[in-house]
Amino acid sequence: MTEHVIIIGSGPAGWSAAIYAARAELKPMVFEGAITEENRLNGTLPLGQLALTTEVENYAGFPAGELEHFLQTAIAPERFQYMNVLEEKHAVTGPELMELMRQQALNFGTRIVTDDVVEVDLSRRPFVIRTLEGQQHETHALIVATGARANYLGLPSEEAYKNRGVSACAVCDGALPRFRNKPLVVVGGGDSAVEEATYLTKYASKVHMVHRRDQLRASKIMQERALGNEKIQLEWNSTLEEVLGDDKQGVAGVRLKSTVDGNTRELPASGVFLAVGHTPNTAFLKGQLDMNDKGYIRWKEPFRTITSVAGVFAAGDVADDYYRQAITSTGTGCMAALDAERYLAAKGL
Ligand code: NAP
Repeated sequence: MTEHVIIIGSGPAGWSAAIYAARAELKPMVFEGAITEENRLNGTLPLGQLALTTEVENYAGFPAGELEHFLQTAIAPERFQYMNVLEEKHAVTGPELMELMRQQALNFGTRIVTDDVVEVDLSRRPFVIRTLEGQQHETHALIVATGARANYLGLPSEEAYKNRGVSACAVCDGALPRFRNKPLVVVGGGDSAVEEATYLTKYASKVHMVHRRDQLRASKIMQERALGNEKIQLEWNSTLEEVLGDDKQGVAGVRLKSTVDGNTRELPASGVFLAVGHTPNTAFLKGQLDMNDKGYIRWKEPFRTITSVAGVFAAGDVADDYYRQAITSTGTGCMAALDAERYLAAKGL
């Protein structure tokens, strides 16, 4: 059977596209990703980057409040039981928001497959997709909403200590015993770095934020949060040269290099958290769509989610290296579903 529309990705863009496509009676099928160790390490598990964050204070419609009752009544019990819902008054968290969107898509009849799409053939109609588990599906329209994943710096020592003190997700790993009451390092100067550093202050004795310039890239409010937190120490004009440690204890420190005079110095630390930007998840497309020089899918017309292949639409961070917000992804997911619906109608499909 050929599907009307397949959606790849399970962040805000994927679920919004599914909600709209389901309500348009296109019976969408969402590939939400596979639950594998590789995806865990890459930060590409189902529910995307928001599942790796804390409170989302800027998602319109969710001011801080008592969310527990709402979440319990909105989300299916079999998923709610595994959620770690904050009891205190709070703005919706990334994982809560994603569960809500997933549930909303399900409520309108979306079919969800917990598998990775590893290959697509966009040269033939209908399009063909193949999955990690060996399934093959055909579809008239395709929405790519696979988002982006956190970057690492590519240092051999960073690779050597992944899972033993090196991480790109404070929320996933920050509470581990090895990080408690110890100095930690966060690399980066954007909103993610501030968010990670702030989160880690709950556990760490001190958080060194290592940034290569003398000014943060983070938004004003986040900058103030970092600079006003006495547990966060900015290490300006510095890059991470090497993660130090040994086989027994894992990470024990870092060697930093000054971007001003090239001098190096060492800091003790039991963990290193990378927050140095993102790479779009487009490898499975194997260049079949037009992309920019950073690998993000290009929209062929402003404010249309159409790509270089008619019938393929892109939404969310995978096509956005500029805004990269939960709410903009939600918006473009909706746009992609509407574009797909119009494409299918015009083709009489
Ligand atoms: P980002 O804004 O691109 O910041 C990446 C940071 O990493 C920059 O400070 C950059 O330094 C640094 N960096 C990049 N490559 C590096 C390298 N090779 N060595 C050392 N440092 C390196 O990424 P982000 O912080 O992940 O934010 C992505 C988007 O998500 C943004 O639009 C942000 O607003 C949004 N976001 C928002 C929130 C929030 O509002 N609460 C939270 C998280 C993310 P330079 O500054 O020198 O380039």
